[in-house]
Formats: sequence, C-alpha cells, structure tokens
Amino acid sequence: MAKRSVYFFGGGKADGNESMKELLGGKGANLAEMCSLGIPVPAGFTITTEMCTAYYTNKGKLPKVLEDEVAKAMAKVEKVMNKKFGDPKNPLLVSVRSGARRSMPGMMDTVLNVGLTSATIPGLVAKTKNERFVYDSYRRLIMMYADVVMEKAAGVEPAEGKGVRLQMEHAMEAMKKAKGYADDTQLTADDLKALADEFKKIVKKCLGKEFPDNAQAQLWGGIKAVFQSWNGKRAIAYRRIERIPDDWGTAVNVQAMVFGNTGETSATGVAFTRNAATGENLFYGEWLVNAQGEDVVAGIRTPSPINKATKGEQSAHLLSLEEASPKIYKQLDGIRLKLEKHYKDMMDIEFTIEEGVLWMLQCRVGKRTGMAAVRMAVEMAEAKLISKDTAIMRVAPIQLTELLLPMLDPKAEKVAKVLAKGLPAGPGGSVGQVVFTADDAAEWAGKGKKVILVRNETSPEDVHGMHVAEAILTAKGGMTSHAALVARGWGKCCIVGCGALNIEVAKKQMTVGGTVVKEGDWISMNGSQGKVFAGQVPVLPAQPELNPFYKKIMAWADAVRQINVRTNADSPADAEQAVKFGAEGIGLCRTEHMFFDPKRIIHMREMILAEDEAARRKAVMALLPFQRDDFYGLFKAMNGRPVTIRLLDPPLHEFVGGLTDAQIAELSKQTKISVDKINARIKQLHELNPMLGHRGCRLGIAYPEITEMQARAIFEAAAKLVKEKVKVSPEVMVPLIGTKAEMDNQAALIRAVAEEVQKEQKVKFAYMVGTMIEIPRAALTADKIAATAEFFSFGTNDLTQMGFGYSRDDVGGFLPYYLDKKILPEDPFEVLDQEGIGQLVAMAVERGRSTRPDLKCGICGEHGGEPASVKFCHRVGLNYVSCSPFRVPIARFAAAQAALETPRKCCTGKKCCKKADKKAEKKAVKKASKK
Ligand code: ADP
Ligand code: MG
Ligand code: MG
Repeated sequence: MAKRSVYFFGGGKADGNESMKELLGGKGANLAEMCSLGIPVPAGFTITTEMCTAYYTNKGKLPKVLEDEVAKAMAKVEKVMNKKFGDPKNPLLVSVRSGARRSMPGMMDTVLNVGLTSATIPGLVAKTKNERFVYDSYRRLIMMYADVVMEKAAGVEPAEGKGVRLQMEHAMEAMKKAKGYADDTQLTADDLKALADEFKKIVKKCLGKEFPDNAQAQLWGGIKAVFQSWNGKRAIAYRRIERIPDDWGTAVNVQAMVFGNTGETSATGVAFTRNAATGENLFYGEWLVNAQGEDVVAGIRTPSPINKATKGEQSAHLLSLEEASPKIYKQLDGIRLKLEKHYKDMMDIEFTIEEGVLWMLQCRVGKRTGMAAVRMAVEMAEAKLISKDTAIMRVAPIQLTELLLPMLDPKAEKVAKVLAKGLPAGPGGSVGQVVFTADDAAEWAGKGKKVILVRNETSPEDVHGMHVAEAILTAKGGMTSHAALVARGWGKCCIVGCGALNIEVAKKQMTVGGTVVKEGDWISMNGSQGKVFAGQVPVLPAQPELNPFYKKIMAWADAVRQINVRTNADSPADAEQAVKFGAEGIGLCRTEHMFFDPKRIIHMREMILAEDEAARRKAVMALLPFQRDDFYGLFKAMNGRPVTIRLLDPPLHEFVGGLTDAQIAELSKQTKISVDKINARIKQLHELNPMLGHRGCRLGIAYPEITEMQARAIFEAAAKLVKEKVKVSPEVMVPLIGTKAEMDNQAALIRAVAEEVQKEQKVKFAYMVGTMIEIPRAALTADKIAATAEFFSFGTNDLTQMGFGYSRDDVGGFLPYYLDKKILPEDPFEVLDQEGIGQLVAMAVERGRSTRPDLKCGICGEHGGEPASVKFCHRVGLNYVSCSPFRVPIARFAAAQAALETPRKCCTGKKCCKKADKKAEKKAVKKASKK
C-alpha cells in the first residue's frame, strides 16, 4: 500500500509523476508530470487506484482516512485557484474524472461542474456576470451527474430509450426546435435556466430522487460513481477485448474546472502532436468555440481544425485556432513540442481556453494506426528523438497487419459510384453489407457476414458491434470522435463526419444524395481517402514495399533479428507472395492439398480403393508426374531457399468421405471397382477418432509406395532443376512421428529413393530428412529421434491438441466458457501455451541437440505468425518460424523485437544466430548429401 491515498498537483508542483501510472492511473500521472514541466494545468488531486480496490473489497465503503486526505488536498487546490469549494461568494467548481492505468477512451465516467448548487449559483453569476454560462454549466452538471452517478453507478437499468440522459437530450432538442435554434450555443440564459428546472424534474420522475443540492454530496457521489464505473458493463466489455486485467482499478482525478463555455473567447479542443492516421509530422487537432468537455468528441457540433496545414476539403471553410487566436495557437504548439521532446512520443492532448487563457487538461501517448506508428517511429529515429531499437519496439507487430491490408482496386475505384466523402479516420479498403445498429452488426457477423456499421455517431455502447464490423462509417464527428479513436486503436477501416448520410435507424436505411441504401446493401470504403462507394469494389492485395517508412523499419528489424522466417505455402503463387513479404524459405508445404484437383483425385481414390500392392502402386505412380510438377514449380519459385515438404498427412478417409451415390457410381465406372466394394471400403476406412487414427507416417509405413512416390517426385523435381542450374534445397518432412523406429523406417525409404534418383539422373543434390514434432512422445524421446532426423519442425497445432487433449475441431464447444471463466488465458490454438506445451518444445530442442548439436529446429503450426509465440520460439532457440504468407512481415518484426528484448547466444555459441545457422545449415546439407 502506498503511504497516502491522495496526490496533489497544481501551481507548478506535483506529488506524483509520469512513472506512477499504476497508482495514479494514466491521466493522473500525466497531469502531475505536465504540472511539473511547467505546463498550465488546473490544480487538482488524484485518489489512488488502491482506493478503488479498497472500495470493492469493503463492499462500496470508502476508508475514513480518505475523507481527511481529500479535505486537505481540496484546501490546497482552493489556495492555488483562489476559490473555495461550496463557497456561496467565490465558489470553486471541480471535475471528477476517471483514469485507469491504461486509457479506456470513453469507457468510464466523468462529471464536470461539480459544486454548482442553489447556494453557489448566485455567487458565480455575480462573479462572472455571465448568467448564460452558469446555467449552461448547471444543465451539463445535472445531465452528467444524473446519468453517471444516479443512474449508471446506482445500477439502475432503464428500458431501451428511457435512460435519463436520453430524456434530457430529447427535452433539449424539443426546446431548440420550439425556439428555432440550430445550435446549442443559441440557447439563452433563460432557456438554460428553464432547461435546468426541467432536467431536475426528469431526474425526480425517472429516478425517484432529488438532484443533490449540496457540493460535498455531489463530490462524493462523483468519486464513488467513478469507482463504480470500473465495473460498468461497457468497461468490462472493453477490458475483455483489450485484455486489461479486472483487478487494476481506476483512479479518480478531482480537478478545478476551467471553462470553455463562457463565450466567444473560450473554447475546448483535442489534438495529436502528429497525425494519428498517417503519422505525418503535423500538429493535428480540432477545437470548438464556446463549448465544454466532450462536445468535440461527441460529434454534437462539427469541430474546426486547429491549424491551416491540416484543413481538408470538408473543413477548408472553417476557422482554425491558428487563424482565430495566433498567440494561443503558438503557445499550444510550443507545448506540443515540449511534450514530444519530453515523452519522446506522439501525444494525444486535451485543452481548454477560458477567456483567452490556455489550460491543458490531459495528455497521454496517442493511439495511432499501424501506418502512422511505422512512420512516426522511423521519423523520430531519423530525427534522433529515439534510437532505432526504440523505433522497432514502438510498433506492435500486429499493427503491421494494416499495411498488409487489402486496398480497393484504384482502377475499379475510378469507375465506381462515389456515394459520399468523409474524413479518413482508419485506413485500408473494406467491402461489406450495411447495418445500422451495433446489435445488428453483432448478429450479422455472427452468421459469418461481412458488415459495415453505419451510425450517426458511435458511443461506447456500440463497441461490440464496432469490433465485429469490417469497417465503421459515421455521419457526424471528427478525427478525434469516439468512432475514429476506437477504429484507429483496432486498425480498422473507418470514415467519420460523412455529412451527406441521412440515416434513418428506425427504417434501417439511409439516403445519400438521391440514393437509398438499405440494410444488407453492399458498400465499399476507402478508409485512407475517406471515400464511400456503392456496391462491391474489387480489392487488391497490399503492396507494403511501396511504403518507404515500412521498408526502412523492416530493414532495421531484419538487421537485429536472430532467427529466420519462412512461410507455409503449397503453391508457387503463395510462395512468391511470401518471398515478396520477406520469407526466407518454406517451412511447411502440405502435399495433401495437391490431391484434390479433379484430374488427380481420381488416382488418389483409385489408390485408396486398391485391393493389393500392385494396384495401389500403379494408382500412386499415376500421381507422380503431377507431384513432380508441383515441386518443380515450388522449388523454382523459392530459388535455392530451403523448402520443407511434408509427406501425406491426413487420414485417407478424407479423400473419399462425403461422396454421393452418383459420385460413387461414377467412381465405380472409372475404376471398374463395384459400387458395393467401394462402399465397403469407405465403411472400412471410417474411424471413430480419425485425428488419432491412420494418418501421418502411419500411412507411409502401411503403404510405403506413397512415401516412395512422394520422395521420387521431390527428388526428380530437384534433379531437373539442378540440370537447369537452379539451386534447390529440399527438406523432406515426415509427419506424426512418435517413435524412433517410425522415423528409421521412413527415412530409409526416402534416402534410398534419393540415391536412386541421383544415380538415374546422374546429378548430385543436397537434401535433408527430418520430422515434425507434434506428438508429445516425440518430444520426450527427441534425443533418440534426432539420431535419424536431421531437422525438427514443431507442429504446434497437433502438439497442442495432443498435449492438452483438446480436439482441434471440437474445442468450440467449451473454449468460450474456459475463456470467460479464465480457466485459460487465451485460445491455445491461437497463442502458444508457453507454460505447458512450450515445455515440450523447449525440451525437444534441448534433447534433440544433445544428440545432434546442429539440429535445425523450426515451427510450422499456426503459432509461427503470432507475435508472442514467435518471441517464445526465439527464446527457446529455434532457427526459424514459419507462417502464412501474410503473417511473414509480422513474424519478422516480432522476431526482431524478441532479439532486442532477450538477445540470445545461439545453439552454436555465436552471438548472432542467423549467420551461424546459415553456416550450420550448409554444413548439415553437405553432410546429408554425402550419405
Ligand atoms: P475521458 O477519459 O473520457 O477523456 P475526461 O476525464 O478526460 O474523460 O473528461 C471528459 C472531458 O471533460 C474532456 O474533454 C476534458 O477535457 C473535460 N474536462 C475534464 N476535467 C475538466 C476540467 N477540470 N475543466 C475543464 N474541462 C474538463
Ligand atoms: Mg479525456
Ligand atoms: Mg499435424
């Protein structure tokens, strides 16, 4: 426990600092830091996250000491601000703000203008001579307080559309309509006074209680409500998605109010020190005159850009802060530079101007798109603000996904019908069916549909729908609106402020220009340019190599990376794509996919139906030319890079299962085997537990001709290329090995064929024979197996299946409960279980290398492209990871981060494994080819 539960900041001094995020939350820690940096911050204090935990363990009671500490801190605030909380003559108002360790934008609650009561209102009016402002603040207080403290925190669950806030919003809309106002700012003091009275009546009617007319009661109500909001529905849902632990708790910040709503010389705004969407080094923000707090973010009025440089087509006519108040803009720009220099990162800031005086209300490291993350990291490193290593650590590997996102085909875009234009808040191209509510998005997506969620503006209640949507489109709001922030955080395609949309949620349709778009209609979005198109515009694969910042950061990453990255690919096209993405070899070529071609499947089926070896051999050999061509293409595409080919793996039943009677009749005609016999054979092949049945090396052992044919196809393709002077390095991989004897059996067959082919073709080529490690027994006996196997490739899908005893195909039945009840931290088929299955990997590497020190080890399961798993592979000494082509850049990057986090001495004892591995590889290949 910390010594105290309240930390003061103000007047250029602060008890806390930036490093105390755990205790003070991100907002509190950074308010303290800014204060110490001499940046103007309204005085206030932070109640620690420990008090939140205490609040929950004491079932909603706060420790007594807190009252004293708050009173003392409040006295300090009063002194700095020269006002008194609850004082009738010179009242201090405060905001009560939430603030967790990690920012959870809009998920928790904040109440502004706390301290306005019938006792303090007259004093504030007299002092400010601005009755309109006072009542504007008062109606805001009632609305926020009723919503946050009296409804949400109290656990009141109003019926749909009956929430207290919504009713107040309706009342305000009604008044505006009756008076013929377009804008909130047109409401007069008398209007607002009447509105405040009406709001209080709504509170009484809706919630059965009076709105509290006592400053202390408001303050403590607010504090408890913030703690309570940590366990609000939205906050919990957000934590699930972002994997934020439930026990962190939130801090509470109580801060003197500064007012952006006193009139034309006041304003409020939010900004990023650089463009959060593109990364461009330009101050980027939005502001609103005569407004308070959330007005900018909520999208109630369309905000203006803060400077000329960032005006777009839509905002060209709006007055920027730079033009309206050059002096304040200059001061703000100075703070921007100061913050970037101090934090060495792009910051997201909130500010308010009260009667021409600038105040900073928040700063935090800003969320950004993947595109922006890459550009900022590179530019900051080049400007020597950060090191190259830091630049690499700044980009989360998964953020690169965005640069690998498909884009709308520019040619097709030119002829497509543009429906509307908005602000480009999240990049990439996206095509989907329109839905108008978050619930519909969730429902449609649940049925496997691709949806685009279209809203007037989004609110934290919409996050579940936003998460499953392909893209998000809003009619209102700016680049800092809720929709933009959330989409950016997730790397989602998003367009906001698309004013041309006329959305009718009740009718589930919108009109854009003259076009009616109904629920389920297709639209396409170019999130990088903010364009919305009718219909389905074709998409093109990404070309990250055209992005100079991507190229630079990947080059830096490759220079520090210590393991290799290969790809899982079965076709030359996939292989070529992967090489473009930086793949250094093929770690897994699955051969079974090659048999489903209509010209081939017949031979496959013939083989399966064959009654004796001779017939089987004949059918198998008919497949040889096809396979040889496949491998020839693949080797050629890889041009000397290692290619690991896995021999036939799935149970034979998969090739004849699900045939209709008509198909069986046809098969009978083709193979001249009777229908009865075919049916009998299919029945015979049926297994109760095929995943543990006759598959993998068990096939090659029962039917050696399958292994022989595949080996021959591989080696004949190799021989052909050697003759054509193309380099090849085949690695033949036997699946599902559990014992050394199995490996001996198959390796002998494969090596015999290799010798034969080399003799027949009169050429020499290097090759390797190895195994997958995917059965726990193989991991346990890896030292024995390594006597025969020249390489190991961890098939972590099966290893996870057999290690956990979870059927890969049936895990869906219970996994959701396991994740929900935290029996498992995550899906072990997605993220490698380092604690358990990881031990099998580490052990097999160690035991294998005890027999064969230069044993090459890699991974070819799905985990090979998952950043945390890649880092694990680096740490346990694998030579490479292999993943699907589109994950290759992510794996390269994760491997680089792993090398920076835990640089390793490789198995050969050299500092940089990559080079050493290459040498070891060459040596092993040479040795193997001599056999
Ligand atoms: P969030 O975490 O959702 O951003 P905040 O606590 O930052 O919530 O508050 C919401 C809004 O109220 C912000 O725009 C912020 O700038 C404004 N605000 C908070 N405290 C004050 C204050 N003391 N004076 C003026 N505006 C404030
Ligand atoms: Mg904020
Ligand atoms: Mg397997």
